[in-house]
Amino acid sequence: MKIAILSRSSNIYSTKRLVEAGRARGHEVEVIDTLKCYMNITSKKPMIHYQDKILDDFDAIIPRIGASITFYGTAVIRQFEMMGVSSLNESVAISRARDKLRSLQLLSRKGIGLPITGFAHSTKMTQELIKLVGGAPLVIKLLEGTQGKGVVLAETDGAAESVIDAFREMDANILVQEFIKEARGSDIRCFVIGDEVVASMKRTAKAGEFRSNLHRGGSAEVVSITKEERLAALGATKALGLNVAGVDLLRSDRGPLIMEVNSSPGLNGIETSTGKDVAGMIIAYLEKMDKHSTETKGRG
Ligand code: ADP
Repeated sequence: MKIAILSRSSNIYSTKRLVEAGRARGHEVEVIDTLKCYMNITSKKPMIHYQDKILDDFDAIIPRIGASITFYGTAVIRQFEMMGVSSLNESVAISRARDKLRSLQLLSRKGIGLPITGFAHSTKMTQELIKLVGGAPLVIKLLEGTQGKGVVLAETDGAAESVIDAFREMDANILVQEFIKEARGSDIRCFVIGDEVVASMKRTAKAGEFRSNLHRGGSAEVVSITKEERLAALGATKALGLNVAGVDLLRSDRGPLIMEVNSSPGLNGIETSTGKDVAGMIIAYLEKMDKHSTETKGRG
């Protein structure tokens, strides 16, 4: 196959590993900088231009789209889709996963366990919103935040009210969530490929911190997950229509609660802590997808 990895840089661990794994399995792999692609969207024959070339001979793409370029990134993926190129994750599924509120609404419709979460526009309803999620301690999250930025723990109702009002004053979209104390600063990252959780790790926050993000000094260790956790991770991935996802869940007294579903999950933490060749498994999955699309579309 000829595979394009859509990524801002070929020096990122995940990008490097995917290039390596693709070539090791006998494929031609190229890294394409998403933001350098441009296209004529009205042309009858959809095409993507890149530098002085036309990208018209790829069989599959692996999108690695950072949160800050979701809008343009999903447009580029959509253009590839219109050309009949398979994408590891579809553009529409990536858009769903990127919107924290939209994903929680979709997961809730499927009956998947979630922390009690509230959302409001008007600042007049702040006290009611706090009551709705069971009062302090509670977590306030900026909808646009990533890597734990804009995630605040408010220990009292008064603190919660001030923080919510301050965010709203700045016109920021936030959600308010019950604080899952019993998770004790840890969360579980399940790496899903197709119908399988292929690797999982437990991330624990550093002392004095409740956010377990590795970017915030959290540490990772391999963990075995329960059947319930596996089913929750697979259900969440399916509900958003993703093929590959990093599903983050909290271990609560009432079972696994999904916090977030990541559509471009990093490979560094998961490969280092589990010793598994996750990049190789992604390429193997892409081969299966390509075989299936060749059979159904009769190309090749
Ligand atoms: P981001 O997408 O910015 O990483 P998350 O929603 O994943 O934000 O939150 C960052 C971290 O904060 C999580 O990995 C988890 O450790 C902690 N956390 C988030 N929400 C809760 C919650 N409701 N209860 C307990 N801890 C939480």
